Amino acid sequence: MFITNGGIADVHVVVAAVDPELGTRGQASFVIGKGAKGLTQGKKEKKMGIRASHTAEILLDDVVVPADQLLGGEEKLEAKLARARTGEHGRSSVALKTFETTRPVVGAQALGIARAAFEFARDYAKERIAFGKPIIENQAIAFKLADMATEIEAARMLVWRALWMGRHGGEFKLAEGSMAKLKCGEVAVKVTEDAIQILGGYGYIRDFPVEKWHRDAKIYTLFEGTSEIQRLVISRAIAAG
Ligand SMILES: Cc1cc2nc3c(=O)[nH]c(=O)nc-3n(C[C@H](O)[C@H](O)[C@H](O)COP(=O)(O)OP(=O)(O)OC[C@H]3O[C@@H](n4cnc5c(N)ncnc54)[C@H](O)[C@@H]3O)c2cc1C
Repeated sequence: MFITNGGIADVHVVVAAVDPELGTRGQASFVIGKGAKGLTQGKKEKKMGIRASHTAEILLDDVVVPADQLLGGEEKLEAKLARARTGEHGRSSVALKTFETTRPVVGAQALGIARAAFEFARDYAKERIAFGKPIIENQAIAFKLADMATEIEAARMLVWRALWMGRHGGEFKLAEGSMAKLKCGEVAVKVTEDAIQILGGYGYIRDFPVEKWHRDAKIYTLFEGTSEIQRLVISRAIAAG
């Protein structure tokens, strides 16, 4: 488990097994506040990217959580556990539904990184003269920029659609939020790598920001659900449709 905001956060949402025999269907989410006895920070992680953000383990040692800190309340939890015990098919998980609305927001962050890298590489390609002409006049560079721009726009449309659906109560039949996050994470990794290529050697050194953007971009294929898990969610939505 991680904390990402410069120390123990004011509030953590912790998923815990309340009936371990029921597996994932026996889990519940609890809100735990900063002052809780037994809640401490573990090791601070050294990361490849997003190094301006603090990431560390959180440790829970005999933390007592009052019942009113159960997300959704006791009544709903009891009903959920009863359904699980009788083998009744569960309603679609609240957590998974929530992810459909939070994932496009995370995708939008990745998109911002991709856009910054694209704009930097585009401007560099117009200015950098190699073999007597700006490098953007080489089709190899211009087509790379064309692909970068196209992928960014496609990813942006997915984000806008999913956010629009979230705001207007749309039903995420195709896991549209997961699609947006998957596309944005992978576009950010590819676009930032292409930006390094366009800058040549300058792309690889720390005097220029693109190598940092590439390191920052990679986390977007990992957290808030890895790319593999996004594909799993999307493929299940397709199968259920
Ligand atoms: C910087 C950072 C910040 C983080 N912040 C938070 C946070 O705030 N809150 C939080 O809860 N977590 C956070 N995490 C944890 C993060 O969400 C997990 O690391 C991520 O979900 C992957 O889980 P894992 O590391 O256990 O990998 P694993 O589950 O061990 O997966 C390893 C690999 O196997 C693949 N894999 C696993 N299961 C399957 C499957 N069924 N099908 C196909 N492929 C599969 C994965 O996609 C991955 O490629 C953070 C991680 C980092 C690095």
